[in-house]
Amino acid sequence: MICRKCKSKSTVTIRKEYHFCDYCFLSYIDHKFRACLGKSRKLRANENVLICLSGGISSAVLLDLVYHGICLNSHKKLRITPFLLHVTEQLPHDEINKRSILEQCNKCNFKLNVIDISHYFSKNTLLSDSHVTVLPEEIKQWKVSKTTSCDLLAHMKQNLYIQIAKELQCKIIFTAETTTTLAVNLLSDIAIGRGSQIENNIGFCDMKNKDAQILRPMRDITIEEVETYAAIKGIYFTQSKCASNKNSLQSIIQDFVSGLQENFPATLTTICKTADKISSSDSKDKICMFCKSTFDQDVEKLTAADATHFSSYVSCTKFDVCNPTLSGHLELVTSNQDLCYCCQRNVLELSTLSDLKNLVIES
Ligand SMILES: [Zn+2]
Ligand SMILES: [Zn+2]
Repeated sequence: MICRKCKSKSTVTIRKEYHFCDYCFLSYIDHKFRACLGKSRKLRANENVLICLSGGISSAVLLDLVYHGICLNSHKKLRITPFLLHVTEQLPHDEINKRSILEQCNKCNFKLNVIDISHYFSKNTLLSDSHVTVLPEEIKQWKVSKTTSCDLLAHMKQNLYIQIAKELQCKIIFTAETTTTLAVNLLSDIAIGRGSQIENNIGFCDMKNKDAQILRPMRDITIEEVETYAAIKGIYFTQSKCASNKNSLQSIIQDFVSGLQENFPATLTTICKTADKISSSDSKDKICMFCKSTFDQDVEKLTAADATHFSSYVSCTKFDVCNPTLSGHLELVTSNQDLCYCCQRNVLELSTLSDLKNLVIES
């Protein structure tokens, strides 16, 4: 087999059909990364960029791509000032993740900011203050389903990114989602009732927040390509797959997408391309106080949210006799007009509205 670019002997095969030599493969990935950033024209010269690293393989590759872009001495040099951030979640794999990112950052001579997810609850997220204020036991005690806790944590992390970006005066944030991750997120979002939010949640740029925009420069790169890149470069990373998310809707969709990737690799790109074509209406007037997405409040037609409300109203009335607390839940939902559909559903699972109020950061 020969490399499709330079016709020398190939060393890697992607999607079972594309052959590359190591050198051409690495520059192909670098090109995808840079093209994604270039096309968008979101980056200004010497922009402060907050780069969020989870410790997983795609974040390790993102860091490598950024580092090599910055080190270039040609007109192709990546002109950004990077600020690196890792958020720990007080989970068993935290230490290993942190160590692997620290090691990589040290090699690149980058300073890594590490902050715990519990800082979400403190009003001032000063990076110098490493004191953990509230234990995430609080999150666990909510006893919500795995699906909901996955969704809550993901949005807490994202809100924390924005908050820290503000503190570090970064108007741009990079996260390391690959095509594969975004396909998982897209299907999950539709399943949990965030279908109207996919433009921001899956697209290249998340523009929900005016203070900082989240860019996803790895979105045209698949997990197979990321793994190949890491193998060639000898990049060390940890498997940051969270065991506690097992059996959540998100993890089941992840397994489904992995199967697709293996047998029908072109499907993932199609899924993400489809998402690009879906844009939401501009008429949305309300901003969700938790996830910050916009939603319509006064729609004349009946919506999925109305259907769920009706359905839960009917069920609650029936259950009222044996379990009076359920009707309290209904009040929580109907009285809460500041949340989007999915966040309203999440509230149903939380014991009290104040739990969610704790999650809301005044912006
Ligand atoms: Zn080649
Ligand atoms: Zn929301």
